[in-house]
Amino acid sequence: MPFDVVIVGGGPAGLSAALALGRARTSVLLCDAGPRRNATAEQVHNFVTRDGTPPDEFRRIAREQLAAYPSVDVRDAAVQSVAGEKGNFRVVIGADTVEARRILVCTGMLDELPAIEGLPELWGHAVFQCPYCHGWEAKDLAWGYLVRPEQGAHVLPFALRLRGWSRDVTLFTNGELELPEEERRRLRSAEIRIETLPVARLMARAHRLEAIELEGGTLVRCEALFVHPPQRQVSLVQALGLALDDDGYVQVDPMKRETSVPGVFAAGDLTTRMQSAIIAAAAGMHAAAALHVDLVLE
Ligand SMILES: Cc1cc2nc3c(=O)[nH]c(=O)nc-3n(C[C@H](O)[C@H](O)[C@H](O)COP(=O)(O)OP(=O)(O)OC[C@H]3O[C@@H](n4cnc5c(N)ncnc54)[C@H](O)[C@@H]3O)c2cc1C
Repeated sequence: MPFDVVIVGGGPAGLSAALALGRARTSVLLCDAGPRRNATAEQVHNFVTRDGTPPDEFRRIAREQLAAYPSVDVRDAAVQSVAGEKGNFRVVIGADTVEARRILVCTGMLDELPAIEGLPELWGHAVFQCPYCHGWEAKDLAWGYLVRPEQGAHVLPFALRLRGWSRDVTLFTNGELELPEEERRRLRSAEIRIETLPVARLMARAHRLEAIELEGGTLVRCEALFVHPPQRQVSLVQALGLALDDDGYVQVDPMKRETSVPGVFAAGDLTTRMQSAIIAAAAGMHAAAALHVDLVLE
């Protein structure tokens, strides 16, 4: 018997979709390959009822709740390929091939961390992408914001926002971004310092960031650093040939959450720059309802 839906990816989006589909008595196979975006984070924040829960615990609770629904099957395995068409997909998982009427892709995004000495080890501990997720725990510390040239118009609003959590904010252009004078003026008036030299390395002790060393040896006190690394899709998304928007996110119909490939739906980080666990979970629920209706109509 084919599964009604194979969900690829067991982060908040995939888990939430599996729950909604299981409760709708739809047969589901949820496949998860392992590392999620927040794997290194100590706690998940800003998810109402789960604020402060370690990521592994979040996933354990979700899977425990899925176990109550007999039509949901969960496998810790990577989906290697998807072939076929709407109503009749063949999904290769290790040595096994299963059939599915629909596919829901919830594979998240891959962050390409800057190759700055000391930075990758601190990702999720003292280097963060989102102040709503980790700002509270780091409030009133010395904060830094490392920008990339491509961020252009996003730099000023993000930097100004950080001042709500800390009075001590330094913006690092890493020698790569020339800020317009008007932006520099507004940053100065918010008492945000600007360091234009390239960053040589991050100095830390036991996962606690202490300072940023600039080229030439100057040390700038910094205890929490915000960065928005470039992101890319996993290879399966590329292999499926799903249409992407200009920023590289999977395009979906806003109501149905169906992608450019009929029968393939998508939810979570891979579809949007607006990334958080609860937003991904909501998108998973949305996709599940749309999929359910689509199956019922068929
Ligand atoms: C360091 C860090 C800390 C964060 N902290 C927070 C926080 O505190 N609060 C918050 O709201 N958000 C936080 N976020 C953002 C949040 O983690 C993401 O928005 C959320 O995890 C997105 O959920 P998702 O289900 O779309 O993708 P993910 O959680 O990334 O899950 C995708 C899953 O798909 C799997 N996968 C990929 N390819 C395949 C395949 N071929 N076969 C099977 N499985 C596959 C991956 O292994 C992964 O398990 C944080 C992000 C980072 C990077």
